[in-house]
Amino acid sequence: MKNIKTSVGHEFAIGKIVCVGRNYAEHAKELGNEIPEKPVIFLKPSSALVFTGDKIIHPNFSEDMHHEVELVILIGKDGENITVESALDYIEGYGVGLDMTLRDIQNELKSKGHPWTIAKCFNTSAVISEIIGKEFFKYSPNMKMSLWVNNSLKQSDSFAKMIFPPEELISYISSIMKLEAGDLIFTGTPAGVGKVVRGDKLEAKIEDKVQLQTEII
Ligand code: ZN
Repeated sequence: MKNIKTSVGHEFAIGKIVCVGRNYAEHAKELGNEIPEKPVIFLKPSSALVFTGDKIIHPNFSEDMHHEVELVILIGKDGENITVESALDYIEGYGVGLDMTLRDIQNELKSKGHPWTIAKCFNTSAVISEIIGKEFFKYSPNMKMSLWVNNSLKQSDSFAKMIFPPEELISYISSIMKLEAGDLIFTGTPAGVGKVVRGDKLEAKIEDKVQLQTEII
Protein backbone atom coordinates (compact mmCIF):
# COMPACT_ATOMS: atom_id res chain seq x y z
CA MET A 1 0.00 0.00 0.00
CA LYS A 2 1.36 3.41 -0.98
CA ASN A 3 0.24 6.70 0.49
CA ILE A 4 0.24 10.13 -1.07
CA LYS A 5 0.08 13.49 0.67
CA THR A 6 -1.16 16.40 -1.40
CA SER A 7 0.31 19.92 -1.39
CA VAL A 8 -2.39 20.91 1.11
CA GLY A 9 -1.55 18.03 3.49
CA HIS A 10 -4.44 15.68 2.71
CA GLU A 11 -3.29 12.07 2.81
CA PHE A 12 -4.69 9.17 0.78
CA ALA A 13 -3.92 5.49 0.38
CA ILE A 14 -3.47 5.07 -3.36
CA GLY A 15 -6.14 2.90 -4.92
CA LYS A 16 -6.46 1.88 -8.53
CA ILE A 17 -4.87 3.74 -11.42
CA VAL A 18 -7.26 4.27 -14.33
CA CYS A 19 -5.56 5.25 -17.58
CA VAL A 20 -7.09 6.75 -20.70
CA GLY A 21 -5.78 5.88 -24.16
CA ARG A 22 -6.12 7.92 -27.35
CA ASN A 23 -7.46 11.04 -25.66
CA TYR A 24 -5.61 13.45 -27.98
CA ALA A 25 -6.45 13.12 -31.68
CA GLU A 26 -2.90 13.73 -32.96
CA HIS A 27 -1.53 11.04 -30.66
CA ALA A 28 -4.19 8.51 -31.74
CA LYS A 29 -3.20 9.24 -35.35
CA GLU A 30 0.56 8.97 -34.77
CA LEU A 31 0.05 5.38 -33.60
CA GLY A 32 -2.33 4.60 -36.47
CA ASN A 33 -5.44 4.42 -34.27
CA GLU A 34 -8.90 5.82 -34.94
CA ILE A 35 -10.36 8.68 -32.90
CA PRO A 36 -12.47 6.93 -30.25
CA GLU A 37 -16.18 7.63 -29.76
CA LYS A 38 -15.93 6.74 -26.07
CA PRO A 39 -12.86 6.95 -23.82
CA VAL A 40 -10.48 3.98 -24.14
CA ILE A 41 -9.65 2.93 -20.58
CA PHE A 42 -7.30 0.45 -18.97
CA LEU A 43 -5.80 -0.08 -15.50
CA LYS A 44 -2.38 -0.08 -13.89
CA PRO A 45 -1.75 -1.65 -10.47
CA SER A 46 -0.76 0.72 -7.66
CA SER A 47 2.39 -1.43 -7.28
CA ALA A 48 3.61 0.09 -10.58
CA LEU A 49 3.63 3.61 -9.12
CA VAL A 50 6.75 5.58 -8.26
CA PHE A 51 7.25 9.27 -7.52
CA THR A 52 9.27 12.18 -8.89
CA GLY A 53 12.93 11.62 -8.07
CA ASP A 54 12.55 7.83 -8.27
CA LYS A 55 13.97 5.90 -11.24
CA ILE A 56 12.21 3.96 -14.01
CA ILE A 57 13.56 0.44 -14.38
CA HIS A 58 13.69 -0.58 -18.06
CA PRO A 59 12.42 -4.18 -18.30
CA ASN A 60 14.81 -6.49 -20.14
CA PHE A 61 11.92 -8.05 -22.12
CA SER A 62 11.35 -4.89 -24.20
CA GLU A 63 13.48 -2.98 -26.73
CA ASP A 64 11.07 -0.06 -27.19
CA MET A 65 9.96 1.74 -24.03
CA HIS A 66 8.04 4.97 -24.74
CA HIS A 67 7.34 8.07 -22.66
CA GLU A 68 3.75 9.33 -22.40
CA VAL A 69 3.34 12.53 -20.39
CA GLU A 70 -0.13 12.98 -18.90
CA LEU A 71 -2.27 15.14 -16.63
CA VAL A 72 -3.00 13.07 -13.50
CA ILE A 73 -6.11 13.52 -11.36
CA LEU A 74 -6.34 12.39 -7.73
CA ILE A 75 -9.89 11.42 -6.74
CA GLY A 76 -10.89 12.80 -3.33
CA LYS A 77 -14.20 11.07 -2.60
CA ASP A 78 -16.07 7.92 -3.58
CA GLY A 79 -18.65 8.01 -6.35
CA GLU A 80 -20.60 5.92 -8.83
CA ASN A 81 -22.52 7.17 -11.87
CA ILE A 82 -21.14 10.67 -11.34
CA THR A 83 -22.72 13.31 -13.58
CA VAL A 84 -20.55 15.51 -15.81
CA GLU A 85 -21.97 18.53 -13.93
CA SER A 86 -20.81 17.27 -10.51
CA ALA A 87 -17.60 15.54 -11.63
CA LEU A 88 -15.19 18.31 -10.62
CA ASP A 89 -16.36 17.95 -6.97
CA TYR A 90 -14.73 14.51 -6.90
CA ILE A 91 -11.27 15.86 -7.78
CA GLU A 92 -8.86 16.36 -4.89
CA GLY A 93 -5.92 17.62 -6.91
CA TYR A 94 -3.80 17.43 -10.04
CA GLY A 95 -0.27 16.47 -10.97
CA VAL A 96 1.81 15.48 -13.96
CA GLY A 97 2.65 11.85 -14.64
CA LEU A 98 4.35 9.45 -17.01
CA ASP A 99 2.50 6.42 -18.39
CA MET A 100 5.54 4.40 -19.47
CA THR A 101 4.65 1.96 -22.23
CA LEU A 102 6.46 -0.97 -23.86
CA ARG A 103 5.44 -0.17 -27.43
CA ASP A 104 6.91 -3.32 -29.00
CA ILE A 105 5.07 -5.52 -26.51
CA GLN A 106 1.87 -3.47 -26.87
CA ASN A 107 1.92 -3.80 -30.67
CA GLU A 108 2.41 -7.55 -30.38
CA LEU A 109 -0.47 -7.84 -27.88
CA LYS A 110 -2.74 -5.62 -30.01
CA SER A 111 -2.08 -7.75 -33.09
CA LYS A 112 -3.18 -10.85 -31.17
CA GLY A 113 -6.20 -9.10 -29.64
CA HIS A 114 -4.75 -9.57 -26.16
CA PRO A 115 -4.99 -7.11 -23.21
CA TRP A 116 -2.20 -4.51 -22.89
CA THR A 117 -1.32 -5.57 -19.32
CA ILE A 118 2.32 -6.55 -19.87
CA ALA A 119 3.01 -3.37 -21.89
CA LYS A 120 1.51 -1.04 -19.29
CA CYS A 121 1.68 -2.62 -15.80
CA PHE A 122 5.35 -3.46 -15.25
CA ASN A 123 7.11 -2.15 -12.12
CA THR A 124 7.82 1.63 -12.25
CA SER A 125 5.55 2.09 -15.30
CA ALA A 126 3.66 4.95 -13.60
CA VAL A 127 5.47 8.03 -12.29
CA ILE A 128 3.76 11.00 -10.64
CA SER A 129 4.73 14.43 -9.39
CA GLU A 130 3.49 16.02 -6.24
CA ILE A 131 -0.31 16.35 -6.29
CA ILE A 132 -1.37 20.00 -6.02
CA GLY A 133 -4.70 20.67 -4.32
CA LYS A 134 -7.24 21.77 -6.93
CA GLU A 135 -7.83 25.13 -5.27
CA PHE A 136 -4.17 26.01 -5.90
CA PHE A 137 -3.71 24.20 -9.21
CA LYS A 138 -6.71 25.99 -10.75
CA TYR A 139 -7.10 23.69 -13.76
CA SER A 140 -7.78 25.35 -17.08
CA PRO A 141 -7.95 23.77 -20.56
CA ASN A 142 -5.49 26.43 -21.74
CA MET A 143 -2.71 25.07 -19.52
CA LYS A 144 0.23 23.56 -21.31
CA MET A 145 2.01 20.32 -20.40
CA SER A 146 5.54 19.54 -21.63
CA LEU A 147 8.08 16.74 -21.52
CA TRP A 148 11.82 16.90 -22.13
CA VAL A 149 14.19 13.97 -22.63
CA ASN A 150 17.81 14.94 -21.90
CA ASN A 151 16.75 18.62 -22.10
CA SER A 152 15.23 18.18 -25.59
CA LEU A 153 11.51 19.02 -25.84
CA LYS A 154 9.53 15.95 -27.01
CA GLN A 155 5.89 16.55 -26.08
CA SER A 156 4.09 19.84 -25.53
CA ASP A 157 0.39 20.54 -25.81
CA SER A 158 -2.54 22.17 -24.08
CA PHE A 159 -5.35 20.32 -22.31
CA ALA A 160 -7.79 21.95 -24.74
CA LYS A 161 -6.75 19.23 -27.20
CA MET A 162 -8.22 16.46 -25.02
CA ILE A 163 -11.06 14.67 -26.77
CA PHE A 164 -12.68 13.87 -23.40
CA PRO A 165 -11.97 16.52 -20.70
CA PRO A 166 -11.60 15.56 -17.01
CA GLU A 167 -15.30 15.90 -16.11
CA GLU A 168 -16.36 13.60 -18.97
CA LEU A 169 -13.69 11.04 -18.07
CA ILE A 170 -14.78 10.94 -14.42
CA SER A 171 -18.44 10.60 -15.40
CA TYR A 172 -17.70 7.84 -17.93
CA ILE A 173 -15.29 5.83 -15.74
CA SER A 174 -17.65 6.02 -12.73
CA SER A 175 -20.49 4.64 -14.87
CA ILE A 176 -18.44 1.44 -15.22
CA MET A 177 -16.44 1.12 -11.99
CA LYS A 178 -16.79 2.91 -8.67
CA LEU A 179 -14.24 5.66 -8.20
CA GLU A 180 -12.80 5.81 -4.69
CA ALA A 181 -10.83 8.39 -2.73
CA GLY A 182 -7.16 7.74 -3.52
CA ASP A 183 -7.72 6.56 -7.09
CA LEU A 184 -5.63 8.19 -9.81
CA ILE A 185 -6.69 8.93 -13.38
CA PHE A 186 -4.02 9.27 -16.09
CA THR A 187 -5.88 11.32 -18.69
CA GLY A 188 -3.99 10.39 -21.87
CA THR A 189 -0.97 11.70 -23.74
CA PRO A 190 -0.57 14.27 -26.52
CA ALA A 191 1.41 13.59 -29.71
CA GLY A 192 5.18 13.19 -29.65
CA VAL A 193 5.63 9.92 -27.78
CA GLY A 194 8.97 8.22 -28.40
CA LYS A 195 11.59 5.78 -27.30
CA VAL A 196 13.73 6.16 -24.18
CA VAL A 197 16.81 4.16 -23.24
CA ARG A 198 18.76 3.52 -20.06
CA GLY A 199 20.53 6.67 -18.91
CA ASP A 200 17.91 9.08 -20.32
CA LYS A 201 16.78 11.84 -17.99
CA LEU A 202 13.12 12.91 -18.22
CA GLU A 203 11.53 16.10 -16.99
CA ALA A 204 7.81 16.91 -17.19
CA LYS A 205 6.00 20.11 -16.30
CA ILE A 206 2.58 21.68 -16.32
CA GLU A 207 3.55 25.33 -16.73
CA ASP A 208 4.98 26.53 -13.40
CA LYS A 209 2.39 24.58 -11.40
CA VAL A 210 4.08 21.22 -10.98
CA GLN A 211 7.08 19.27 -12.25
CA LEU A 212 8.50 15.76 -12.29
CA GLN A 213 12.00 14.38 -12.80
CA THR A 214 13.12 10.82 -13.34
CA GLU A 215 15.75 8.72 -15.07
CA ILE A 216 15.69 5.42 -16.95
CA ILE A 217 17.95 2.71 -15.50
ZN1 ZN B 1 -1.04 6.85 -21.74
